[in-house]
Amino acid sequence: MPMTRKLFWEDMYLKEFDARVVSADASRLVLDQTAFNPRGGGLVSDVGTIDRVEVGEVVKEGDEIVHVMKAEGSWAPGQPVHCAIDWEKRHRIMRMHTAAHLLSAVVNSETGALITGNQISPDESRVDFNLENFDKEKMSAYVDRVNREAGRGLEVTTFFMKREEALSNPGFVKLANAMPPTLAELRIVKIGDADTQADGGVHVSNTKEIGTVVALGTENKGKSNRRLHFTVRP
Ligand SMILES: [Zn+2]
Repeated sequence: MPMTRKLFWEDMYLKEFDARVVSADASRLVLDQTAFNPRGGGLVSDVGTIDRVEVGEVVKEGDEIVHVMKAEGSWAPGQPVHCAIDWEKRHRIMRMHTAAHLLSAVVNSETGALITGNQISPDESRVDFNLENFDKEKMSAYVDRVNREAGRGLEVTTFFMKREEALSNPGFVKLANAMPPTLAELRIVKIGDADTQADGGVHVSNTKEIGTVVALGTENKGKSNRRLHFTVRP
């Protein structure tokens, strides 16, 4: 079965699209192409509608992207469908995710710490760092620097790179290693001169769209693991 075409990689601003059903059971749909970004890499899944039926979640199952519907429908292979992303939520995910990359770049350059996990949601997000010392003042200094970086209006670009080439670049290695070894090419996301990483998620095209990053608090998650909660405004 051919893989679903990932429209969310081709145009991260695509809000509505037409597709055909490849396979379906009562509430799970696989399409020939989709702009719904599935859950993964710390990002929550997009939601929206397919033929006006609500999409509850979109998940990756092996090579397949499965749209888990909130109601049952009579979907048949080959059937054309019209799909709409909940753009308000998606755009906030894009802003939060790009902010998280800038945060990890800033904290890494200030402390050498690496990101150990993240959860990107429309309303509130969090990033974990392997860091022992992370007080309130330091945190707000990092967030200020992130806002200065974002305010520079950095262009965000994506491209594909051979796996070996990406792995040979020290800046990409930590995440590239987490990618399935079967992938011959990795997708690279570059935020101006601030950050370059192998990454499968959705981003804004210019850091000015992030708005203002606001720290919501920190938490200790183990001896050398610090969690930062944040959001973007307005
Ligand atoms: Zn990312």
